[in-house]
Amino acid sequence: MTLYTELLSLQLMSKKVRVRFAPSPTGGLHLGGVRTVLYNYLFAKHHGGEFILRIEDTDQSRYVTGAEDYIFNCLQWAGLEPDESPLHGGQYGPYRQSERKATYRRYAEQLVKDGHAYYAFDTPEELEKMRLDFKTEQNPSPQYDRSVRLQMRNSLTLAADEVKKLLDDGTRHVIRIKMPEAHETVTFTDMIRGDVSFDTAVVDDKVLLKADGMPTYHLAVVVDDHLMKITHAFRGEEWLPSAPVHVLLWKYLFGLEQMPQWAHLPLILGPNGKLSKRDGAKYGFPVFAMNWTDPKTNELTEGFKEKGFLPEAFINLLALLGWNDGTEQEIFTKEELVAKFSMERVHSGGAKFDYEKAKWFNHEWIKKSGAGILESGVKTLLTEKGIDITDDALLTKVIELVKERCTLLTDFYEQSAFFFTTPAQYDIAAVKPKWNAAKQLFFAELIRNYELATGWNVTTLENNFKEIAAVNELKPGELMLPFRIMLVGGKFGPGVFDIATLIGKEETIARISKAVAAFNS
Ligand code: GLU
Repeated sequence: MTLYTELLSLQLMSKKVRVRFAPSPTGGLHLGGVRTVLYNYLFAKHHGGEFILRIEDTDQSRYVTGAEDYIFNCLQWAGLEPDESPLHGGQYGPYRQSERKATYRRYAEQLVKDGHAYYAFDTPEELEKMRLDFKTEQNPSPQYDRSVRLQMRNSLTLAADEVKKLLDDGTRHVIRIKMPEAHETVTFTDMIRGDVSFDTAVVDDKVLLKADGMPTYHLAVVVDDHLMKITHAFRGEEWLPSAPVHVLLWKYLFGLEQMPQWAHLPLILGPNGKLSKRDGAKYGFPVFAMNWTDPKTNELTEGFKEKGFLPEAFINLLALLGWNDGTEQEIFTKEELVAKFSMERVHSGGAKFDYEKAKWFNHEWIKKSGAGILESGVKTLLTEKGIDITDDALLTKVIELVKERCTLLTDFYEQSAFFFTTPAQYDIAAVKPKWNAAKQLFFAELIRNYELATGWNVTTLENNFKEIAAVNELKPGELMLPFRIMLVGGKFGPGVFDIATLIGKEETIARISKAVAAFNS
């Protein structure tokens, strides 16, 4: 055990682990987002802690109707339900930042009082002018930072009574963090990356409180992580550049000893760099947890659920996108993941998403799952396609028989529909060229034989079939394909005698007769 992990476990023992997933409700939930949920969830459960879902909706211009409900539905489907959330409640609510607006101003004012932040009254025109005035070849897009702040209209440059008057008059203003004057190095220990350092000189004076009184993400995330007693904050690597601002806010507001342990999770890579929504459409694989229709454009982005993934397979494949337990094991139940997960084993490099491998996970899970688990999904699928399932016992047997052949849940349609409906069409081209009088005779005899058959099971049906073939000097191999097409309609499905056994005597004979008539015409 390294000193660091030792310290970490000491800390874990002293405090109840509380982690959070803090999405902004701006659209569908990307694979990477669900993996962040999953790692939070596994870590919390591994340590007997709590997993909180906080909705970060302070940027009203990016708010998308329906996105919040969608996030809840995705988490519910994936089996990663939070302990506390706007929906589940909890003692640290409200869990929606837009409902906590009053709280944030207090902290922003405190920072101004302590000299770590300032009021800025610059109008959009003044900001634009600053960008033009300070633009140079080396600095094509100047930021509001320590090099320009003293030339702007803010509480650092205006007289105190003027600032008071502007505030009393209700002049539009924001509150900005005052990044350190000199080069200051901010260092924190990331549970995946180890020590990470930043030079504060490269960071601008970020807005903390906006003109509409809403906090920006930077202020809200720190205040809420503090008030909600978050012990560990795990999020995507794209937030790493914001970390110095957050660390400084922790230092100024609550003290660094209170700060949660950070871990910035590696990117998920697609065929060309960071996996994007566009990759899904381009390469034909899902990128979101569930189908998402953008309410503005009506554009549909496919989800893993609708594509036919089992939630168990989905979380299993996500867990392995950036983590392993140090062995060759790849198939894990949620309980096993909870038992084995550790942040130290998460890789810092990007994890490549491979859709073929994702399907492999799903296939393994379908094979591993009992009919009881698959039944409701398969039943819904078949019902949606207009197939009425009245015989649940038959459905159970069918699922057991065909699951080996199904990679996606949606494959159950092709593999099992014919058990419940007589084929409406036949792959005539596969039969016709070799269909002859001898085969007609064979099937006529087979019907007579099957009508008299006493035991209706795979062995009897197969033996009788072969005997009649032998008597007629026909190769059973040549008869098997037309028989399959009679029962199924096409060249797919499990063993023909298994199918005949399950659909029963009457239906088998009816299908042979109907197909013979079709093949003859
Ligand atoms: N609201 C941020 C997001 O949308 C949360 C980042 C964090 O976890 O700190 O991803």
